Amino acid sequence: MESYFIIDSHCDTIELIADYGLDVFHQQKCHVSLEGLKIGRVGLQFFAAFVTPRKKHPCLQRGLELIKAYQILMDNCSESFMPVLNFSDINTARSQGKIGALLTVEGGDVLEGNLHNLRILYDLGVRAMTLTWNYANEIADGVLENDSDRKLSTFGLKVIREMNRLGMLIDVSHLSEKGFYSVLETSEKPIAATHSNAWSVCPHPRNLKNDQIVCLAKAGGVMGINFYPPFLSKQYADINDILRHIEYIAGIAGIDVIGFGSDFDGIEETLPDVCGPQDYERIINALLRLNYKERDVKKIAYENYLRVLREVLINGEQSEWSENTIENN
Ligand SMILES: [Zn+2]
Repeated sequence: MESYFIIDSHCDTIELIADYGLDVFHQQKCHVSLEGLKIGRVGLQFFAAFVTPRKKHPCLQRGLELIKAYQILMDNCSESFMPVLNFSDINTARSQGKIGALLTVEGGDVLEGNLHNLRILYDLGVRAMTLTWNYANEIADGVLENDSDRKLSTFGLKVIREMNRLGMLIDVSHLSEKGFYSVLETSEKPIAATHSNAWSVCPHPRNLKNDQIVCLAKAGGVMGINFYPPFLSKQYADINDILRHIEYIAGIAGIDVIGFGSDFDGIEETLPDVCGPQDYERIINALLRLNYKERDVKKIAYENYLRVLREVLINGEQSEWSENTIENN
């Protein structure tokens, strides 16, 4: 299949860079490498600043350390990466032969309950935020708060409205079910579950139930298939399990809700046959062998995420997205 690229909505590579220095990236000790991104035709990679509450790190300070690591990566690899700050930047990066990089924060704990911090993060280039990790914070509860009955807090409602206003993608991966539906009710823009799979295929608390997937699709949202083996299968997992999740989700909610969110560098093990972005072509070819139409494979690869980002991100001064740029690259 010609003229496609990949949008991957989650990796934790900048955490490794923050903790061990840029060498871990250049020495290819991460799942994600420049070569791998290029071989895998990744045109837009989300880079998450993962802020889990840690006693030794105040959350905002930790978030800023991670954002600094992202900026170091962008400066050091400016010939290969282009930070995406508005929708047209995705197009510009493609036309310059660069990989777009979208900075996200994973864990709304980073806000420390203060809406001003959200605007500061936006000014630093953050364009998406995962509202919670697995536990409760000022915004809502995470998936491991068993039997959580809590919806979005009053602060959480304000965060959703402000993210809509600023042009930031709301990420509901890791969020409790009640929180999930509360976000869907509140957000005026489509949302994403950037790295979550189907619970009915693999009953893990991090995966989404059928109703969640159907409601996400109805609201025009997207979910990124996560490549972490325990989220894909209760037993041995390989590339076929990625396909099983895609098949299942397409069956209950349609193709338009499916994207990729590998979780590379946030997972301690990978599949044997999908070890980094260099293996994306293998997934694309497997879908084509299953007789998915090229049109549908392109939706999963990048078009569904483009549709959502076009709605969410502010448009830049540069030209609108042009299909020609995809075809020419
Ligand atoms: Zn995560």
